[in-house]
Amino acid sequence: MPDEFDEFADADLPAYVGLPSFHKLPWCPDDASLEASRAQVAIVGAPYDEGTSARPGARFGPRAIREASYLSGDIWSIPLQVDVLKVLRVVDAGDAPVVPSRPDRAHRVIQEKVRRVASMGAIPVVLGGDHSITFPSAAAVSEVHRPRKVGMVHFDAHADTAAELWGALASHGAPMRRLIEEGWIAGRNFVQVGLRGYWPDAATFRWMGEQGLRWHTMAEIEERGAEAVIADAIREALDGPDAIYLSIDIDVLDPSVAPGTGTPEPGGLHARELLRAVRQIVGRVDLVGMDVVEVSPPYDHAEITARVANRCVLEALAALAAKASRP
Ligand code: MN
Ligand code: MN
Repeated sequence: MPDEFDEFADADLPAYVGLPSFHKLPWCPDDASLEASRAQVAIVGAPYDEGTSARPGARFGPRAIREASYLSGDIWSIPLQVDVLKVLRVVDAGDAPVVPSRPDRAHRVIQEKVRRVASMGAIPVVLGGDHSITFPSAAAVSEVHRPRKVGMVHFDAHADTAAELWGALASHGAPMRRLIEEGWIAGRNFVQVGLRGYWPDAATFRWMGEQGLRWHTMAEIEERGAEAVIADAIREALDGPDAIYLSIDIDVLDPSVAPGTGTPEPGGLHARELLRAVRQIVGRVDLVGMDVVEVSPPYDHAEITARVANRCVLEALAALAAKASRP
């Protein structure tokens, strides 16, 4: 029965059949296959969690996010009315070659992997990993796009702007400070959304104010609504730069919808608010890089955290496709 044996291409088989690249997209882990793919967007895994300050496990995030979907083949975005993968060439570029217990090397190989993807003209969409990976990832994107300036929209319960955590510069609590201090992204174009709870402290917020950072707390979102706040965040991030790196710490979501993360903080966004915000941002700006971080599968329940992270990526792809198909 050769006809029914070959009835479906591998990419069109159900998501649970075969190798779990992101959405069963072409697997292009080396430079040659990535170059040949002429991808406009490339998924990159950053399976590293040695920057975590509390519950670990985000090193298993990239694989979990890749697997967390029941879809394969073509995808039609209902909100944006676009056949996403017919418009956009997307591949999975595999993981940065991280090994355990070598944190400096891990950050270097993540930076190099993202640099290679961005240099080939693809938008890197990086799956974390803990939030420390945003330092090498956004630095690589900023470097590749010079002399253009890149702004940052950063979703998180936490500002991640500590000078150090227990003496560690490479902590997941410090990447945003390093990006600003090393000049990869200007403080005044660094915009944070979703802050709440009890960390960081007043001195760190003073430093943020001095750098011109702008931040929007959950309390502000409760008062003004997410859509108005996101519109401000876009304007602030683009006040100078003409391109955006979008960083999503999944703990910006309420732990009731994203329990599988290292430092859950009650009182966060609902999934539908975050997915709408991703469409709103990516639809309106020139996206040059993105990450979704802090998914820790060992703490997840019913894969719900990995699934919403997967959909953050799909919403971004759909918004890119909708933009590309606009007359
Ligand atoms: Mn974070
Ligand atoms: Mn966080």
